[in-house]
Amino acid sequence: MTTTDTAPAGETRSFEADVAKLLHMMVHSVYSDKDVFLRELISNAADACEKLRYEGLSDPALLGDDGQPQIVITLDPDGKTLTIEDNGIGMTEAEMGEALGTIARSGTRAFMDRLADAEKAGDSQLIGQFGVGFYSAFMVADRVEVVSRRAGGDAAARWASDGQGTYTIEPVDAADAPARGTRVTLHLKEDAADYTDGFKVERTVKAQSGHVPVVISIKDKPDAEAKQIADGAALWTRPKSDITADEYKDFYRTVAGQFDEPALTLHYRAEGRHEYSVLAFIPETKPYDLFDQDRGGRVKLYVRRVFITDEAEILPRYLRFVRGLVDSNDLPLNVSREMIQQSPVLAAIQKGVANRVLSELEKLAENDSDKFAAIWDNFGAAIKEGLYEDYARREQLLNLSRFKTTASAGGWRSLKDYGEALKENQTAIYYATGSDLDRLAASPQLEGFRARGIEVLLLADGIDSFWVTAGADYYGKPFKSVTQGQADLSLIPLVEGEAPAAETSDEVAGFIAAVKAALGEEVGDVRASERLTESAVCLVAPEHGMDRQMEKLMAQGGRGGSAAKPVLEINPRHDLIGRLSGLGDDDAELRDDAARLLFDEARIADGELPSDPRAFAARLARVLGRAMG
Ligand code: ADP
Ligand code: MG
Repeated sequence: MTTTDTAPAGETRSFEADVAKLLHMMVHSVYSDKDVFLRELISNAADACEKLRYEGLSDPALLGDDGQPQIVITLDPDGKTLTIEDNGIGMTEAEMGEALGTIARSGTRAFMDRLADAEKAGDSQLIGQFGVGFYSAFMVADRVEVVSRRAGGDAAARWASDGQGTYTIEPVDAADAPARGTRVTLHLKEDAADYTDGFKVERTVKAQSGHVPVVISIKDKPDAEAKQIADGAALWTRPKSDITADEYKDFYRTVAGQFDEPALTLHYRAEGRHEYSVLAFIPETKPYDLFDQDRGGRVKLYVRRVFITDEAEILPRYLRFVRGLVDSNDLPLNVSREMIQQSPVLAAIQKGVANRVLSELEKLAENDSDKFAAIWDNFGAAIKEGLYEDYARREQLLNLSRFKTTASAGGWRSLKDYGEALKENQTAIYYATGSDLDRLAASPQLEGFRARGIEVLLLADGIDSFWVTAGADYYGKPFKSVTQGQADLSLIPLVEGEAPAAETSDEVAGFIAAVKAALGEEVGDVRASERLTESAVCLVAPEHGMDRQMEKLMAQGGRGGSAAKPVLEINPRHDLIGRLSGLGDDDAELRDDAARLLFDEARIADGELPSDPRAFAARLARVLGRAMG
């Protein structure tokens, strides 16, 4: 690099703090698998080639007479360097500073957070699941140089850094830069010198990046002849029967940027009114950002093998865990990305692909319930968003959905299973929502259902409170919260065979009236309960009010406002209630304390605080004191 002497002195800049942190981790090698740097750099080179292919559609001059995109890897065992050069879109000096000095991408930022967590937990497996991008070069290099020339531009620039906090950027002579595109040179660390071994590098690149849609060649020595090691053919255009499981896996890893295995591979060609190929995967592990609001879909759109965009949102949001691509034959190539979004062809593709993904999941659920359960474990909470968002497919999604229930013994139950266990006279599909499965399973509101052998869905995902109230039904039965309205269980016999207790006695009725008077405005009503068998009390929502769990969620979101007053239900068969009912007017003070304590007990069972903690403590002390005589 003779120009270092003649070019104006490079400007030295500091990395953004987060980059410095990331670099520190790279330099100190948190990854056990250093090979991934090759994949990251090749993926960047391939992206650059695809961007150029796309821009070249509207501006063929950019391609000049070098229309064949390619990536060349050059090894120099003597100089201990590894160089990756592409003839893609390239970067201007300004773009370089932006791209290689900051962490502009939210994905990398999320990675940083997870990395810190994983480090704390000593979990290097987890770390291996994410791509880290360009900075991974510093795992194997103690100095990295990037020389680039933007397609269509004359000026070229060089970026260089030793990964220790600063980098330089300076213009370079045209003669020292690629005619177009980017050259990344790694000055390898002592312990990474084997990355100049042609055999090793070839094998690694073939395994990791053998299916990027750009030709890759390798030179064993700077003056050796280039040997092609990947043909850049689009895997998805080959017939299924020709493709091995390993090839699918490698491709999945390339396209998904994940290091796990695909749990489901979907490869087909749609024919008829619209022609397109689909190669899509459901990952085996849950991505860390599945519930990140900004996370878009990960299905890329190609048109006749030209990468167009990964922002076409091919699949509905609730299927955002699916990775892969769609290659259309009949979308026009020469329209802008914005126009494509409006295209009826894209709409047809979106519909077709979503239907196919769901029908494949249905098939899997039918034929291999274990495999399906593993997918549901990871992505069920996302898929259930569809119950709320995708009205047209709700029925299908309800069929797919799996639930933990009071009868599932830790496993998953479908609504079909639930249907087969319906009790005679059961008028609704019952559910309880909350944030914690164990606590849900222990809620007093479930007692009467358990005693009657009525199955209750235990819903602990955030989205559950929304879809259950969106008016869905199944076998013509509505979904009904066990904490809302009258339980209406009197027509269903107890499992033990005993008839439901006789009418509430006058004494208990009197006590209930006294409790109601004592609590006054704090409750909407106080009544005898059908849903309780063991506990003395519980709180439920009024018949037409909002489910209590939903109400809490809304309150957390600052949308509380006019919360309906809860209904206190009292178990007339409970021993304590029986004894309290015997209190006469001369025990009015104790009866009053009992009323309030019962109310607070019910609040606590729902995971809330007593309505007035200080008064609660005083009351409790008073009653205990009395009990001690
Ligand atoms: P990502 O690829 O996820 O965007 P990277 O850290 O791998 O993140 O790369 C950062 C950015 O640097 C890229 O988005 C791109 O703008 C730029 N870049 C890296 N390598 C190249 C290259 N070979 N050609 C053009 N731009 C590149
Ligand atoms: Mg990258």
